[in-house]
Amino acid sequence: MSYLWTGNTYDHSPNPEFASFCGVFWAFPQSIEGFPHCKPLIVVDSKDLNGKYPMKLMIASGFDADNCYFPLAFAFTKEVSSDSWRWFLSGIKVTQRKELCLISSLDPDILAVINEPGSLWKEPWAYHRFCLDHLSSQFDDVFQSSRLKSLMKQAGLAIQQDEFDFHMETIEKENPETRRWLDKIPPHQWALAHDGGRSYGDMTMNIEKYICESLPSPGLPVTAVTLLLFDEIRMNFHQVLSDSRRRLNQGDMYTKHVIDELEEFRTASVTYVVMPLDNNEFKVTEPLQKDGWIVQLSKCTCTCGEFQKNKISCVHALTVCEKLKINPLQYVDNCYSLELLYRTYSAKFNPVPEVSAWPEVSGVPTLLPPAIPPPTHNKFPCLHTLAVCEKLKINPLQYVDNYCSLERLDRTYSAKFNPVPEVSGWPEASGVPTLFPPVIPPPPPPPTHVSGMSKRKTTPRTSQKKS
Ligand SMILES: [Zn+2]
Repeated sequence: MSYLWTGNTYDHSPNPEFASFCGVFWAFPQSIEGFPHCKPLIVVDSKDLNGKYPMKLMIASGFDADNCYFPLAFAFTKEVSSDSWRWFLSGIKVTQRKELCLISSLDPDILAVINEPGSLWKEPWAYHRFCLDHLSSQFDDVFQSSRLKSLMKQAGLAIQQDEFDFHMETIEKENPETRRWLDKIPPHQWALAHDGGRSYGDMTMNIEKYICESLPSPGLPVTAVTLLLFDEIRMNFHQVLSDSRRRLNQGDMYTKHVIDELEEFRTASVTYVVMPLDNNEFKVTEPLQKDGWIVQLSKCTCTCGEFQKNKISCVHALTVCEKLKINPLQYVDNCYSLELLYRTYSAKFNPVPEVSAWPEVSGVPTLLPPAIPPPTHNKFPCLHTLAVCEKLKINPLQYVDNYCSLERLDRTYSAKFNPVPEVSGWPEASGVPTLFPPVIPPPPPPPTHVSGMSKRKTTPRTSQKKS
């Protein structure tokens, strides 16, 4: 694919020469070319842009072989809703990649789109997981307990089933309601112990930080932001491509992420005992311990669960490799290879011509700024909206809130008033005792005056000391 995939939306107006900008989706061809060499993972999120027009930025990112964010697709949209998420997620399908794992927040609009009939973002076509950070924030909003929030995160990050069960039982003992809340969310969508390795051991996404670092200052026109993002991505491609080429020439095979992970395991202070078993299995135990972990190198598994989760040899597998004097890198998943990293960033970038030299798009009306309702309590068009309406030659009254309509005012006061009959003609109320006048205590007697001084002034001030 060697094109810039885009999709525009705009609100039509009665004057076909003009329309109001609603949003734009785009994916740079270099990203589309590079994504097949990334892990089969996508994270999606959105962020408010506080520029001249308060648009939202939607972003989809992959993870490269070095476990870094790989920008895949963007969209500016007037509002984030199930419609805009449907539009955005259908745009990402330009990847044509199967069995992707999608990580998102628990946004009900995203859930609605993913779970609707015919969606290709659910099993068996794709796998949907929830970001553990977003889930724990939502959990905290409901239960407001840092202790329970911490237990919930420990359950989500636990790799082994019995560890997950232990944390869930503790949560249940401390607050049964929190357990019931968590049980409503399928565990494979938020807990590593049930994830089946789809999320590559990372159920969190810090995409907002990534957006903040990559995005130029807010308030710029959409075209300028797109060009600056393109430039940012071009520089990043150049940097990663140069580094990976240099390391490949040195004879390296795996990315820095793998080397760092293995180094962390190597420096672990525990010395293990390795015992060969049948079927090419090995039992790895701590000294003087009976229980241990079973490693099967040919299947890249260990009963600790880390090997399957990260797809990089765990500390027990490393110990076995050391014992057998074999290279542990042969058991690292190919998704971490330096060759793939190099291919991910090898797309060419041609210089972008000046905006004035861009070809005119045919069949598209002149786009005016997005008609975003101002944050006002008046509920009727502000001066800017009036100016847009005048330009479009449309009636601004159609944007006035219905609560201000004459029809509503008329209905408010439309109840009928019939003449009131004489009191003697009112019907008797049943079940109510005969009511007497209210019992009000008599007023106090008037104050007595003594020698021209009021009673109040003669009261001794015993509680006050003279200064
Ligand atoms: Zn292990």
